[in-house]
Amino acid sequence: MRVEVFECNPFCENTYVLYDDSSKEAAIVDCGCYTQDEKMRLVTFIEQNSLNVKYLLNTHLHLDHVFGNVFCTEKYGILPLAHQADEVLIKNFEQQLALFGLPAPDGVQNLGGYLTENDVLVIGGETVRILHVPGHSQGSLCFYLPASKMIFVGDVLSNKV
Ligand SMILES: [Zn+2]
Repeated sequence: MRVEVFECNPFCENTYVLYDDSSKEAAIVDCGCYTQDEKMRLVTFIEQNSLNVKYLLNTHLHLDHVFGNVFCTEKYGILPLAHQADEVLIKNFEQQLALFGLPAPDGVQNLGGYLTENDVLVIGGETVRILHVPGHSQGSLCFYLPASKMIFVGDVLSNKV
C-alpha cells in the first residue's frame, strides 16, 4: 500500500490517501479539506494517479477530520464510514464550529455506515483491520494494515482535537 499525506485546514490535520498502485483502488482517510486549494490538491493527486476511490474512512468525527466529507461524497459518490459512538459529533457539528469561531461552507456529511472492532476492509487486495480505541473520542478507530506494517491512528496518539 502506498500513502500520500495532505495537511489540511486551520488545525493542520492530516488527510491520507491510501492506494494500491496496480489495482488503482484507494481510500481517503480523514478528509479534512477545507479550502478550495486543499480540495484541488487532493483531486489532482487522485486524477494524476488514476485512482478509484473505494472508501471514505474516518478515524473519528472531530470537525477537523470531517471538513472535506461533503466534498468527497459529492465528488466520488461514496459516503463516510466511522464508528457509531462518534455519530453524536456529526449532530453537534455546529457547536464544535462555534467553539472555534469557524464557518463551514460545506456543512457536514452524514455517515453511510458504521465500522467497529474486528471489521475488515480490503483495498487493492490488502486487508485493513479496524480497531476500536475509545479515549480521544468514544468512537475513535485505528486502521491497521498488517501486510504493509502501517497503522492510521487519527488523534489517538495526539493531544489536539
Ligand atoms: Zn480529534
